[in-house]
Amino acid sequence: MTAHYLERAGPDWLVAGARHVWRPYCQMKTARPPLPVVATRGSRLILDDGRELVDGLASWWTACHGYNHPHIAGAIRDQLERMPHVMFGGLAHEPAYRLARRLANLLPGDLNHAFFAESGSVSVEIAMKMALQFHINQGREGRTRFLSFRGGYHGDTLATMTVCDPEEGMHSLFSGVMPSQVIADLPVDAASEAALDAVLAQRGGEIAAILTEPLVQGAGGMLFHSPQVLRTLRRLADKHGVLLIFDEIFTGFGRTGTLFAMQAAGVEPDIVTLSKALTGGTLPLSVAVASTRVFEAFWSDDAGAALMHGPTYMGNALACAAANASLDLFEAGAWRADVARVSAALAAGLEPVRTAPGVVDVRVLGAIGVVEFDAPVAVGALCDAFAAEGAWIRPMGRTVYLTPAFTTPDADLAILTAAIREVVSAGGVEGNGGV
Ligand SMILES: *Cc1c(COP(=O)(O)O)cnc(C)c1O
Repeated sequence: MTAHYLERAGPDWLVAGARHVWRPYCQMKTARPPLPVVATRGSRLILDDGRELVDGLASWWTACHGYNHPHIAGAIRDQLERMPHVMFGGLAHEPAYRLARRLANLLPGDLNHAFFAESGSVSVEIAMKMALQFHINQGREGRTRFLSFRGGYHGDTLATMTVCDPEEGMHSLFSGVMPSQVIADLPVDAASEAALDAVLAQRGGEIAAILTEPLVQGAGGMLFHSPQVLRTLRRLADKHGVLLIFDEIFTGFGRTGTLFAMQAAGVEPDIVTLSKALTGGTLPLSVAVASTRVFEAFWSDDAGAALMHGPTYMGNALACAAANASLDLFEAGAWRADVARVSAALAAGLEPVRTAPGVVDVRVLGAIGVVEFDAPVAVGALCDAFAAEGAWIRPMGRTVYLTPAFTTPDADLAILTAAIREVVSAGGVEGNGGV
C-alpha cells in the first residue's frame, strides 16, 4: 500500500495509525488530515499543538450542554463504579427503567413505550420495523413501504438509506440495491398537499408509515418548514390509515427552541426516534418511543406478535446514566434562555453575509444558524480557513452552518460568527462539496 498521502505531520499516534483508520464520509486519498484533538472543555476543542477551537457543531449536534459537563461526567463515573453494562435480555437496571419513564413524561401525548438502541440509524430501523409489524399484527397485508421526503436524512444503514433524499450525494450510488420507497415533496402549500393526498390515495395501501424530520431536515441541507406541515402530515396519515414517524434525532432536546420540535406544532407522531443529544454528547444511545396504540398492537398471547429485536448493548447502563443526567439539566430549565441567547447571537452575527457573493439564504431557528450558497462549497478548504479563525466549522453540501452547544459563551459565539463573516467575505467558498 502506498501511504504517501496519509498523515506525515502531527502526533506519533496519528501518523502511525492513519493508514489503519477508515475515516467517515471521506475520500482519504485527497482529504486533508483530520485535526488531532487531545481534550475538550466547555465549548472548545483542544488540539495536540495546544490550539483551541470553538466548536460550532457540538460534535455533530450531540454536546448540547457543552463538553465535560460535571453533572454528566459525575453520573457516568458513579455508574461506572457500580455497573457499566449488563445484557438487557431478561435483566433490568434502574438507569434504563428510570430513563424510559422520564422520556415518557417529557414526550407529549402517549409516546410512552421506549425501545433502546445505540445509534440513530438503528433506532430508525427499529421504528420502521415496528411500523411494518404494527400492520402485520393486525392482519393488514401489503403495507411494506414507507413514504418519506425530498431533503430528508434518516441514517446510513441499508434500510435508512432508502428513506433519505434519493438524489442526495451520500447514498445515490446504491439506488436499485434496496427496495424503493415513495419519496414525496413535503406538503408546504396547497399544491404539494394535494399531491401528497393523491399519492396516498393511490398507494396508501402499500405504505406502512410516513417518516419525516419535524421542522428541520438536518443533514439533507438544514431545510426549515413550518409547524403547519406537521399538522398536515398528521391529518393525511390518519386519513389514509398509515402511521406517522417523527425522526427527532437532530431536532430533539431543545435544538429548535422547544424540547421536541413536534411541540411547536402540537402534533404527536405514532413513533419518535431520539439520539444525538440524548446523552449530552457523551455516550452512544438512541431510542424509538412508540405510542400506546402502536405498543398495544404487539401486546398479545401470540409469541409471534412480539418485536424480535435486541441490540447487544441495548439500554447500556453508562449511556442511560448519562442521559438521565442530561435530562436533569434540561429539567433545571436554563437551556431555554440559552437557546434564545444563542439564537439571537447567530441571527445577528450571520445576517451581514446575506449580501455576500453566492449566498442565497441566511436562516436561524433555535440554536441552528445556516448560510446557504447557490452551489456546493469546498468543505476541506473551508474547514482550514475557519480553523485559522479559531473555529471548528464543517460545512455540508451547499451550507455553512452552526449548531453550537447551548452553553457556548457570548465571546465564543462571536468567534464562530466572525469566522464565517471573515471567510465568506474573502470569497472562494465554492467547490465540489468534497471532503
Ligand atoms: C444523525 C441522524 C441520524 C442517524 O444517526 P446515527 O447515530 O448517525 O446513526 C438519523 N436521523 C437524523 C435526523 C439524524 O440527524
